[in-house]
Amino acid sequence: MKEEKYRIVITDCDHGSIEEEEEEFHRIGASLTLAQVREEEDIIQTCNEADGLIIQYALLTRRVIEHLKHCKVISRYGVGVDSVDLKAATDFGIIVANVPDYCIDEVSNQTIAMLLSLVRKTAFFDKKVKEGQWDFRLGIPIHRLQGKTLGLIGCGKIGLAVAKKISPFGLKAIAFDPYLQKVEEGVELTDLETLLKRSDFISIHCPLNESTKHLIGENEFKKMERKPILINTSRGPIIDENALVNALEKGLVSGAGLDVLEREPPDPKNPLLKMENVILSPHVGFYSVESIKELKRRTAENVSAVLMGKWPKSVVNQEVVGKTRAPLPESQG
Ligand code: NAD
Repeated sequence: MKEEKYRIVITDCDHGSIEEEEEEFHRIGASLTLAQVREEEDIIQTCNEADGLIIQYALLTRRVIEHLKHCKVISRYGVGVDSVDLKAATDFGIIVANVPDYCIDEVSNQTIAMLLSLVRKTAFFDKKVKEGQWDFRLGIPIHRLQGKTLGLIGCGKIGLAVAKKISPFGLKAIAFDPYLQKVEEGVELTDLETLLKRSDFISIHCPLNESTKHLIGENEFKKMERKPILINTSRGPIIDENALVNALEKGLVSGAGLDVLEREPPDPKNPLLKMENVILSPHVGFYSVESIKELKRRTAENVSAVLMGKWPKSVVNQEVVGKTRAPLPESQG
């Protein structure tokens, strides 16, 4: 039997198929094993000989990493690498890579789909017509989109994609992003107070962290002068959900489109489930057939890049530069 040059193990993956990964590793003459393990001891047993690892939910503790004697790279499906002890990986010269940008098109489209559905009351009318009510007056008032202001909270990859895609609809985009000095032409940077005051629509695109948890709460809703429609395709806890329910009941916001919630799946008693001016989706923003294929292909490419002596596109533990187990050029350029 032909001895493969490299051994790659996928610790765990719930994608159904690993065709893209197989294709990539066949190309570089590496063997691939799908272990479906998440527990420390099982990971050590199945991965200790691996040259490269792909992970989804498996927890890579320092103890696990100590046992990965040959591993040069760990590649995570998607963005979050909080399941990996990054310091330990760096100490052992293992590169940790991720794929932070496989679904910008999907999430920005999800945002705009929710926005348009709320403005034109698409989901509302669909429900009414199917219940036997053929009467456009049920949806009065509906406002024109053109000339209105969209406020983006966070203007990174997805926020900016929303701004660009929405521009032909005649919307003006403003953004609050404390980490940006400037954004592309057509988007005006502003502070949060001004954004809350001026926006007809507000869409959230910042990450969830300690400073953004409940960034939008009772005080912020009170400052929303134009009774905006609020869209959240980022992370649920950025909005204080009880405060949102109050704001919807009091008419401080005129609708909400939520792909993410504080608790997923929601409690069946969550009042948002009963509100006609709220549309919900089950954290689907990232998903399309194409985005998942791209995610899988690029996760595998991160591993083969390192084994072929190149830097992967996205390195999480930058501190590893200069002390990698794999012989790589000093510069990532
Ligand atoms: P990104 O890193 O490119 O952009 C995030 C932006 O938020 C950055 O420009 C950053 O400066 C800004 N930011 C950070 N802290 C902020 C704060 N306190 N206030 C305002 N802005 C702040 O990330 P991205 O690719 O645009 O993704 C944005 C978010 O979308 C992710 O953090 C993730 O939570 C979410 N997301 C959701 C799905 C989904 O399926 N619904 C899929 C992918 C990503």
